[in-house]
Amino acid sequence: MRKILLCSLYCLSLTISAAAQLVLGNPSNAIKDVNNPDNFLVVRPEFILSYNRSRGTANWVAWHLTVSDIGPIRKDVFQGDPLLPKAWRISSTGYKDSGYQRGHMCPSKDRSTTLAINRETFVMSNMQPQTKQHNEVAWGNLEDDTRALVKQGNEAYIYAGCYGNKGRIKNKVTIPTFCYKIVIVLPEGNNDLERITENTNIIVVSLPNTDTVQSDWRQNPASIDEIEKATGFDFLSTLPNAVEKALEKRKAPKP
Ligand code: MN
Repeated sequence: MRKILLCSLYCLSLTISAAAQLVLGNPSNAIKDVNNPDNFLVVRPEFILSYNRSRGTANWVAWHLTVSDIGPIRKDVFQGDPLLPKAWRISSTGYKDSGYQRGHMCPSKDRSTTLAINRETFVMSNMQPQTKQHNEVAWGNLEDDTRALVKQGNEAYIYAGCYGNKGRIKNKVTIPTFCYKIVIVLPEGNNDLERITENTNIIVVSLPNTDTVQSDWRQNPASIDEIEKATGFDFLSTLPNAVEKALEKRKAPKP
């Protein structure tokens, strides 16, 4: 009896957090089906992603961020993603000697309240090969600035991923030419989907994965239209069409 109760509580919470993270849609209609290796849905309470076996990385990673997600915990425990079939996993040493860092999509600090939660961000399916300057400086600054907005009374819906191909690591992992991020910023509240309008604050960037990418991410604004064109995905598909259209053509931040 107790087991059943525990399971139903756990399953319920899993369903709720999964729904919260895909409120703005499943950009590639990813499904959990091993016959769909380049668009394979991986769901965990901390974030959701579409895995691309051919690239050895995610197509996109989606999560929701509130101030209650941010704590003091970090422990580097990189590992192959246990939620992927074994043969598809990239190991913790998969980028070794490539010159590229293991760069988080969903940041460690965005899931830093407990060891168990933080640990999930270190699965290799949440990593992309990023240059040091991209990962530690430009991308890192955007992560910090997003958390600062959230600490000022906002919540955020975030999609991150990379695209393009400038080489392969051990013929297993594709090195991307750009990494993109879409951040929808709302004042903390309820009924989020209904509160998003064409005036909602958004941050959209596409940052070149180079040694010389500008430290200030504002120097590389993009529009969601541009990212959809580059990736073939459809973001914000659950919004009313007029709102989706207006947000997607906006260069954000404005150049
Ligand atoms: Mn769209």
